[in-house]
Amino acid sequence: MQHETDRIPVLSIVCPAFQEEEVLPLFHLELSTALAALEQPYDVEIVYVDDGSSDATLEVMRELALADERVRYLSLSRNFGHQAALTAGLAEARGDVVVSMDADLQHPPALLVELLSKWRQGADIVLTIREDDPQLSLFKRVTSRWFYRVMKLAGETDIRMAAADYRLMSRRAVDALLQLRETHRFLRGMVQWLGFPVAEIGYRPARRKAGVSKYSIHKMLSLAVDGILSFSRLPLRLALMLGAIALVAGLGLGCWAAVSLFSAGASGTAGLALVLASRHALGGSILICLGIVG
Ligand code: UDP
Ligand code: MG
Repeated sequence: MQHETDRIPVLSIVCPAFQEEEVLPLFHLELSTALAALEQPYDVEIVYVDDGSSDATLEVMRELALADERVRYLSLSRNFGHQAALTAGLAEARGDVVVSMDADLQHPPALLVELLSKWRQGADIVLTIREDDPQLSLFKRVTSRWFYRVMKLAGETDIRMAAADYRLMSRRAVDALLQLRETHRFLRGMVQWLGFPVAEIGYRPARRKAGVSKYSIHKMLSLAVDGILSFSRLPLRLALMLGAIALVAGLGLGCWAAVSLFSAGASGTAGLALVLASRHALGGSILICLGIVG
């Protein structure tokens, strides 16, 4: 078996948290229970990342680290966002196998057994696929479904519908992921882009155990834009397509103006058409150049 070594494998749990003072102690308790129930022995480390919280999240992490020697924590200087916090945590993790999950217990820690068993069977990446959750707000369900639909239409990397940031990665997958130097990180796409053997398991997301969602509409939108801009050439092709349309329209209009000038002599309409034609042709050419540069 690929992962079999003489020593006990190190398992890292990476968990970014922003304003999660309420839920973090509950999360740690449930995670500890899940870790105690693992079938094989692991040398466990838990890496908490405080994403610039202004509540007592960092203090809670400190207390957890004092009480539990498996806990380490990072504190970011400001709120950088979930994907950046997750990346910082992954860079800090030392595990042979690394699992990332949210702090709000929507990602059930009990799934660890199944995730690790897929890893032991040889998968470098184990994705968790969220089943449609009727408890989730209609807004979240609809926006999420449409986002994945657009990604499927526009993207070249096949990004699994409803893949959450609850996933397992082998050491080599984490190392490869960390080598990608994107600033706007859409980790769901990047992980699947790597090309390592992927397995997946479905799960029914639980309700957030305390606190409220930290993904504001602005944060959701910016994640969606990062996803589409990073994994689709459509926005760049759009410039090319619009440019081609404008150029063809400009040339057509120019021909029409020239014919009408020659046949009917100078007229206001033909003059206007000529101006419009030159503007379309120029604008179209610039857009085409932008598309090519893109
Ligand atoms: N989170 C973070 N930084 C942010 C927003 C969220 O680290 O700027 C964390 C948050 O604490 C949680 C995870 O990312 O552990 C997912 O966020 P949340 O549960 O609020 O999102 P939702 O599940 O509602 O999409
Ligand atoms: Mg959540």
